[in-house]
Amino acid sequence: MPSPGDNVLTNTQAAVREALQKLGYEEPVYDLLAEPIRVFTVRIPVRMDDGHTEVFTGYRAQHNDAIGPTKGGIRFHPNVSLDEVKALSIWMSLKCGIFNLPYGGAKGGIICDPRSMSMNEQERLARGYVRAVSQIVGPAKDIPAPDVYTNPQIMAWMYDEYSHIREFDSPGFITGKPLVLGGSQGRNQATALGVCIAMREAASRQKKDVRDLRVIVQGFGNVGSNVALILHEMGAKVVGISDAGGGLYDEKGLDVPSLIDQKDSFGMVTPAFQNVISNEDLLTQPCDVLIPAALENQLHEGNAHDIQASIVIEAANGPTTPVADEILHERGVLVVPDVLANAGGVTVSYFEWVQNNQGWYWSEAEVNSRLEHMMIQSVQNILQTAERYDVSPRLAAYMVGIRPFAEAMRWRGWV
Ligand code: GLU
Repeated sequence: MPSPGDNVLTNTQAAVREALQKLGYEEPVYDLLAEPIRVFTVRIPVRMDDGHTEVFTGYRAQHNDAIGPTKGGIRFHPNVSLDEVKALSIWMSLKCGIFNLPYGGAKGGIICDPRSMSMNEQERLARGYVRAVSQIVGPAKDIPAPDVYTNPQIMAWMYDEYSHIREFDSPGFITGKPLVLGGSQGRNQATALGVCIAMREAASRQKKDVRDLRVIVQGFGNVGSNVALILHEMGAKVVGISDAGGGLYDEKGLDVPSLIDQKDSFGMVTPAFQNVISNEDLLTQPCDVLIPAALENQLHEGNAHDIQASIVIEAANGPTTPVADEILHERGVLVVPDVLANAGGVTVSYFEWVQNNQGWYWSEAEVNSRLEHMMIQSVQNILQTAERYDVSPRLAAYMVGIRPFAEAMRWRGWV
């Protein structure tokens, strides 16, 4: 199990400090980048279907706006905490820095369990959150998007609520919208497609072809299920998948399209099966590539020695603890870090925002080819930086991702 020291915020801050030190930046730069510049905590009263009012706690953290407006998803999950939201906002900055997006990072979260809420209750919660944070968000201020357990429907309600408050139609306020409301072609699969491109590039550096690889994907939500499907279509053998309830493993390969047909909107598929293993056991089964696509701290000190994969692609945010990262690095496992591997989502969110601002919409082929180009360049950039400085790909990603913020703050005269 992860140890109590695995606080995602303190771990992230330590990595930011190390990256800034390697780049030769002084303490005040770290001081400003270690915490979000702005954090909002809100209390949201929601009338539940049975008539009683429940009060939910939500957050929005804006890490840094030296480069442009802030950007990042909103998570609905019972384990949301302020520290988690802050860490996630820093990771968003790193993704934007690595991909040269004109944004800083942000993240929102609401402590709730949408799995036990009706659609009407979720709608009231989504709209209440937007009312609570409306002063600090907006198309030129801070642009939300989907994250764990939020989806295009939630984005649509939020967009509608914001447009009512502002009294004009404002599609650039939020990304990950349904297509008819100004969403982008390719956004739904973008994170997963980016993960698969990152995997293909990482494998080719080890002279391996995707079609020869056995892959385990942990998590079967929007990202995990699409990763499994795209890899299946690319000819890889998906030998393991899992959801919040457990995992399925078959060395002969799983029938991914049929599993996707059976899953519910929260990515649950295992309840229909008998031969379910635990999520913990799934991670250490034989495979060539392991893709954690669920939550934080899944690869830790206790299991890092037993991971059989030679490549780990972090589709989730923060799935590997620092100690596990070190163990895997020493064992020669290539870990493609989250802020690189899963940034296809925010990249196509950026495309969506650009299209909304221009009122000019692109084809799916155009979106995907721009995404592919940016993914390939970024993977090469990070892996080359890692070699040049003789550091792990994660530290290289932090260095490349944080540098634009340090530079922008210097130009602005903040540090
Ligand atoms: N929630 C996604 C992430 O963690 C996407 C954020 C966005 O599209 O702004 O990267």
